[in-house]
Amino acid sequence: MIIGILALQGDFAEHKEILDELKVQSIFVTTKEELEKIDGLIIPGGESTTIGKLLKETGLGKKIILKAKKGLPVFGTCAGAIVLAKKIAGKKEFSLNLLDIAIERNAFGRQNDSFDEKIKTSFGILSVSFIRAPKIKSLGKKVEVLAKRKKEPVIVRQGKILAATCHPEIYSDTKLHEFFLEMIKK
Ligand code: GLN
Repeated sequence: MIIGILALQGDFAEHKEILDELKVQSIFVTTKEELEKIDGLIIPGGESTTIGKLLKETGLGKKIILKAKKGLPVFGTCAGAIVLAKKIAGKKEFSLNLLDIAIERNAFGRQNDSFDEKIKTSFGILSVSFIRAPKIKSLGKKVEVLAKRKKEPVIVRQGKILAATCHPEIYSDTKLHEFFLEMIKK
């Protein structure tokens, strides 16, 4: 199994460290050819406007949509979750529209309002960071909630698409990545 990590912008290196720890082969993806080699894709945190712009300009976005519709599992953290969402509140931005949620960017305030937390998930306690994190404002019927914080969904899944509004990779907590790997195997 080879996992691709979208490496246009953001904290792709941290995701690689987690996969290395789990002894899973991974490659950084910046071209369409690299997308052909992978069994699952991670879209990291960073700046969703930049990632979205580059996805559009490089044509990688279109290709990811096609591959995901054919069953490629995709996992987005924070900005990655924003890029996956059907609807981004506010300005019109590029999105892959693969996950039936509406999401609001920077919903906790500024950088200073970032925080770390342990959250209860369907697969155990997960240590995560919320860094200028978004909030999921609404969910489609097919979207399953895997973790909540203060009654609000923070990790969700729709079929082979997984998204977290927080970062487990910063704390080197491997559980969510392991969950994604299991999703790929099934
Ligand atoms: N605030 C960023 C955005 O809106 C996301 C931050 C992150 O990925 N940690 O794109």
